[in-house]
Amino acid sequence: MDLISFDHSHLWHPFTQQQGWVEEEPLVIERAEGTDLIDVRGRRFIDGVSSLWCNVHGHRHPRIDAAVREQLERMAHSTLLGLSHPPAIELARRLVEIAPPGLTRVFYSDSGSTAAEIALKMAFQYWQQQGGEAARRVKFVSLKDAYHGDTIGSVSVGGIDLFHSMYRPLLFDTLKAEPGDAGDMERLLAENEGEVAAVIVEPLVQGAAGMLVQPPGYLREVRDLCDRYGALLVCDEVAVGFGRTGRMFACEHEGVSPDFLCVAKGITGGYLPLAATLTTERVYEGFLGHHHEFRTFFHGHTYTGNPLACAAAIASLDVFEEERTLERLQDKIALLERLLEPVAALPVVSEVRQRGFMVGIELTEFPVELRMGHRVTLEARRRGAVVRPLGDVVVLMPPLAIEQSALERLVGIVSDSIVAATEPFASGREAA
Ligand SMILES: *Cc1c(COP(=O)(O)O)cnc(C)c1O
Repeated sequence: MDLISFDHSHLWHPFTQQQGWVEEEPLVIERAEGTDLIDVRGRRFIDGVSSLWCNVHGHRHPRIDAAVREQLERMAHSTLLGLSHPPAIELARRLVEIAPPGLTRVFYSDSGSTAAEIALKMAFQYWQQQGGEAARRVKFVSLKDAYHGDTIGSVSVGGIDLFHSMYRPLLFDTLKAEPGDAGDMERLLAENEGEVAAVIVEPLVQGAAGMLVQPPGYLREVRDLCDRYGALLVCDEVAVGFGRTGRMFACEHEGVSPDFLCVAKGITGGYLPLAATLTTERVYEGFLGHHHEFRTFFHGHTYTGNPLACAAAIASLDVFEEERTLERLQDKIALLERLLEPVAALPVVSEVRQRGFMVGIELTEFPVELRMGHRVTLEARRRGAVVRPLGDVVVLMPPLAIEQSALERLVGIVSDSIVAATEPFASGREAA
């Protein structure tokens, strides 16, 4: 079967300009092993972005593979609408155990986008059901350059023009705060006092915006402001959760417990689509009542809390414990910081931003038509690594389990690739 021609004639890839896609030979990944991806021609590549930010312990991890197989021997799927199943129950208990204090209720879904939408809908409905003055709380505050997913609700609280501005007429209005500026957050909350349902933030790092790192203390200040102005706080840890920043959850760095915690990407160790929105007893109780009062949260997806995905997620949490993943990560974070020093010194690099195992290497300005980030990606492939940029920000986000030697090789490849991709253009530019 001619895979490539069938791909070109039938597949429509996400976040991809297909006109350019069909002009290039696609990389077709067939297998994976540890932190390597292997294509149909048997070539190996380091998985430099954790298969879109979700792989944690490496691919084909024996523990997680076995857990999914064992669950498969019992059943692949049964619904959580009106029924329950052991993996969903066990995982909920485990998530509550490790989540910031106060988050005691777990609502499952399938993607980061739905995890965020669910938090927004719950927050909105919570205030409506409180009634009286509280029902005036119908507004949301989000950050400029925010990314919370691609469905219409999550796009409404998004702020990346390139992805989001097209849909403006379809979106609900939100208040946009200047990221990292607690004063601006306070101004918005004060100007809209008594009308804000919730503030939604990506704690510590705004990933899709290009790995923008917030100043220390900002998240804490946002939590305090939400308390002062009575707004609920939604922390979208879809990207930063499950160890990415060096702690299990980014909120832990600032001792913050949000009212909603959204998790997805890394929850199954990068195995299967699963998401969860965690919330507090206070919010949960706001939905209790007799059937005929219609305080139910009328929301659910067909595959919500899929048993195979929950089994993978439980096994991933076991691996965190057994392999002391977070403990062993600390030295690798420090190593990564050292390895990035010479990259930051490259004349074509304007800034390197790092928080834990999340890195954005911003290139100096090149004409957008050059697609410099993409050129770097192609160079990296030639050298044996898969990375995917955000515009001209080269993203590095390896699995937490990566060996030190592979990490060194990965940063070396990326550095060489930046030099190789920019060289033909950078020299001419300096002369100009
Ligand atoms: C990726 C991401 C999402 C969306 O998750 P999907 O599973 O792709 O829908 C939401 N929020 C953040 C912070 C993300 O990085």
